[in-house]
Amino acid sequence: MRCALCGRKAEVKLVRYGTSVCRSCYPEFFRGRVEKTVERLRMFSKDDPVCVALSGGKDSLSLLHALHLLGYKAKAIFIDLGISGYSEGSRKVCEKLCSDLNVDLHVYELRRERGLTLSEVSRKVRRPPCSICGAVKRQATNRMARELGCTVLATGHNLDDEVAFLFSNLLNWNLNYLARQGPVSEAKFKMVKKVKPLCFLTDEEVRIYAEIVGLEVFEGRCPLEGKAPLHFYKRIWNELEGMRPDVKSSFYKGFLRKLKPLLSVDEGELRSCKICGEPTSRDVCSVCSAFMKV
Ligand SMILES: [Zn+2]
Ligand SMILES: [Zn+2]
Repeated sequence: MRCALCGRKAEVKLVRYGTSVCRSCYPEFFRGRVEKTVERLRMFSKDDPVCVALSGGKDSLSLLHALHLLGYKAKAIFIDLGISGYSEGSRKVCEKLCSDLNVDLHVYELRRERGLTLSEVSRKVRRPPCSICGAVKRQATNRMARELGCTVLATGHNLDDEVAFLFSNLLNWNLNYLARQGPVSEAKFKMVKKVKPLCFLTDEEVRIYAEIVGLEVFEGRCPLEGKAPLHFYKRIWNELEGMRPDVKSSFYKGFLRKLKPLLSVDEGELRSCKICGEPTSRDVCSVCSAFMKV
């Protein structure tokens, strides 16, 4: 097999695209896919300041790396939740990549902003950390993007994440989540536009990119994370993909094309939280209510 781009010996087999490329052409191929998604779904243009939420994992770091090399105006943020044995390591690799790319990294420290780390607040209010974590991250990333003057917030969710989440929402017939799931959420009241430029690239394709361009990533799993069914769903989907290449992508695209347009979002009016001013559908946002009970 020859590389479809340069004709040398192919090393990366891309079964679902019916082609193969060599290792030196792979990054260009990958970035081409990212750019195509960004353009086709009108996520942002080369003039828009884009805020990339980094976690330290391969996905968000690859996203920042790719967008930066494609010439997009990417800014980077990191949410430090103060989880010992986890936050330090993930923050370090984000700092490393940002300094290599000469991109400013803006850090939100939960302890500085809210007085407690995630583990502390979770213990005190006796709520599972993941339920608070999601709300904290959603709020903090949105606020930082807005304050940095970015109109768009980009996250590193890949196709495997999207399919696993979609599958979980279908299993539970969670219509409200299904209605909101997708690569683009438009801006509304104090909420910036949210996009997922890696949503059509698999976990494996992102992993290969990170490896070939030599990204230092944080491999650790969050110690607070319980039994996450999403990992189990991802394994099922990998088995399916082995039997039928491209099933993840056709399932996800089929959802976006056929089911999503039929669903309507019911999330009530958004208003400002009485305490912190951030957007919420209640009087007091879920982050304030968790931290206030302390
Ligand atoms: Zn090549
Ligand atoms: Zn609040």
